[in-house]
Amino acid sequence: MADSREEKCPVCDSSDIDASIDISDVPIYCNVLWPSREVALDAAKGDISVGYCRDCGHVFNTSFDPSLMSYTEEYENSLHYSPTFNEYAESLASRLLEKYQLNNKSIIEIGCGKGDFLSMLCSRGENRGYGFDKSFEADRVASDTQKHVTFIQDFYGEKYADYDADLIVCRHVLEHIQYPQRFLQDIRQVIGERTDTVVYFEVPNALYTLKDMGIWDLIYEHCGYFNVNSLSRAFELAGFDVCEVGESFGGQFIYLEAKPRTSESTANKSETPPRLALEDLATCVTAFEGNYNAKVDDWRETLDALQKNNKSTVIWGGGSKGITFLNVLKTEQIISHVVDLNPHKHGLFAPGTGQEVIGPDALKALRPEHVIIMNGIYKDEITGMLEELGIAAEVSCI
Ligand SMILES: [Zn+2]
Repeated sequence: MADSREEKCPVCDSSDIDASIDISDVPIYCNVLWPSREVALDAAKGDISVGYCRDCGHVFNTSFDPSLMSYTEEYENSLHYSPTFNEYAESLASRLLEKYQLNNKSIIEIGCGKGDFLSMLCSRGENRGYGFDKSFEADRVASDTQKHVTFIQDFYGEKYADYDADLIVCRHVLEHIQYPQRFLQDIRQVIGERTDTVVYFEVPNALYTLKDMGIWDLIYEHCGYFNVNSLSRAFELAGFDVCEVGESFGGQFIYLEAKPRTSESTANKSETPPRLALEDLATCVTAFEGNYNAKVDDWRETLDALQKNNKSTVIWGGGSKGITFLNVLKTEQIISHVVDLNPHKHGLFAPGTGQEVIGPDALKALRPEHVIIMNGIYKDEITGMLEELGIAAEVSCI
C-alpha cells in the first residue's frame, strides 16, 4: 500500500508529512446501514493511515482512495433526531440569522443532507434556500419546507453560478473531501464578484479527536481532520478572509466564517498569527498512537469481562463512533444490538459486524444489562430515557 500513499498535504501542499497510526479493514461507510446481516457483514472495507502535516497541522488519511466512495441516498447521517443536537442547531441558526441579518435573503447549503438545518434557517428568517446534495431524498422533506427551500440533487459548482447567495453554509462536508483546498478555490470562483457573500463552514475538531481521545472518530469517510490553523489556512489559500474561527458543540466541532478576499481587504490585512501552537498539536499526534492502542486494549478487556459474565450488552448510537467502535473491537459475539433514535435506521444492520439497529422501545423486551453510550454528550438524555423505559442497566460511555 505504501506506494499509493498521498505524500503532500491537501491543505498547504507541504511535503513535510509525518506518518502516525494505521488502522486496517474498517468499513468505508460508517453511515450506510444494510438491509440484512449477511450483506452488512460483507460491506466494503478500507485502510486508514494517519498522516500529519508539520507545516499547517492538518491530519489526513494518506491511504484514502476516493474511487471506493460514492454518496447515495442510503447515506444516513442526520443528527436532527436528538434534542441535544437540535438545541445546538437552533442556537447556531439564531446566531447566524442575527449576525448577518438574514431576512428575506438567499442561502445556499452545500451538502444539505436531508435539509433540516437549511429549512430551519429559511423558515425562521423568511429566507430562500437552495440545498445541494447528491444524497437528497424528496420524500423525507415536509411539504411546508418545500415552500422556502429548493433542493438540487447535485454537487454545487460552476454551473450554478447564477444562484445568488448572501450566505453559503457547508457543515460536515469538507472532511469528506480529498483535496479541500481545491474545493474551496472552486467555491471562491463561483462566488466571483459577489464579495458580500458570507461563508459558514463547520467540521469535526481534530484537536478533540486527538486530545480528548475521540478515537472512534477516525473513520474512512473522513479523509481530513482539521484544526483551527489548517482550516483557516485552507480558506486563506483559497482566496477568503477569515472573519471568525472557533470551537463549538462542546469542543467537538470547529466553525469558520469567511468572506471573499478583495483588493481592499488585502490592503488592510495584517499577518494572521497562528491560532494554535503547532508544537502542542504535534505532541498530541505523537501521544495519540500510544493512547489509541491503550484505549482499544482497555475496551477489549471490558468487553471480554462482560462476555465472560454473560451480561447482555447493547451500544447506544448508530453513527460513526458506534460503527467504528463495533468494528475496531470485533464485537459480533459480545454486543447484540445498536440502539438509535433515528427511526430510518431501525431494522437495518451495522456494516462489518452485522448488529441490528433498534429503537429505544425495543429495549423493553430485550432488557440489556449493560448499555455503552457512544457519545458522552448525550448521557443525561439517554439515562433519562432508560429510566422512563424501566431499564436498570449499567451505563458506560466510550
Ligand atoms: Zn499542511
